[in-house]
Amino acid sequence: MTDLSDTELERYARHIVLPQVGGVGQRKLKAANVAVIGAGGIGSAVIPALAGAGVGRLTIIDEDVVELGNLHRQPLFRERDAGYSKADLALQFVERLNHFVKASPVQQRIGTDNAPQLLAGHDLVIDGSDNFATRLAVSDACVALGIPLVSAAAVQFQGQVGLFRSKPCYRCFVGDAFDSDDCDNCAELGVLGALSASVGSFAALLAINSIVGVGDDQAGRLHLFNGETLEWRAIRIPPDPGCRACGSA
Ligand SMILES: [Zn+2]
Repeated sequence: MTDLSDTELERYARHIVLPQVGGVGQRKLKAANVAVIGAGGIGSAVIPALAGAGVGRLTIIDEDVVELGNLHRQPLFRERDAGYSKADLALQFVERLNHFVKASPVQQRIGTDNAPQLLAGHDLVIDGSDNFATRLAVSDACVALGIPLVSAAAVQFQGQVGLFRSKPCYRCFVGDAFDSDDCDNCAELGVLGALSASVGSFAALLAINSIVGVGDDQAGRLHLFNGETLEWRAIRIPPDPGCRACGSA
């Protein structure tokens, strides 16, 4: 496994001192190749957390450009970034934060047609996209490729985050009803900025714990956050034997 330079040992000292991480865990982070889908509200928490943590390679997939209405929940961007590619700006952010991280921007919409090709070769995918159709396409590709998926969503005052390792998958939870169009998104429903940041930070923690091997495996559990009562709860997702992606049919 790749070694850590003196600069990296200093940089990640507060990680390495943790018994749960140590030098071994830090080298696992450095060796990891993670795809982040969406440099929006979730991605604005996930990308700095992963880049700061020293995840070695990050692919940032987002076809959008920054709009003024994004800025209340997307601190990756500034006012003068309006109109510019989120993926490219996220790359610049990562380069400023941590030059040990190799980031690759992909300014494309990810869907059923290109998800397998865009996600192949990654060790973990974190999906912070804002609609069911994308989330299901990403989940199906992760199941087919055998890549663990952290799926995170935030809308209004509600958040959900789950880690899926092929079975059960995100489709077992959601079902097939939402494939066709963007029947939900926060442009229409609204979302509190601090809520998406909380959910994104949770997703980053889940991803880092999964890569390093901290704690019990969280696969198949969905963590739900209520931003009004400020309570987290977890439910277990049962595998759906008839699931189109991971079922036996
Ligand atoms: Zn499934």
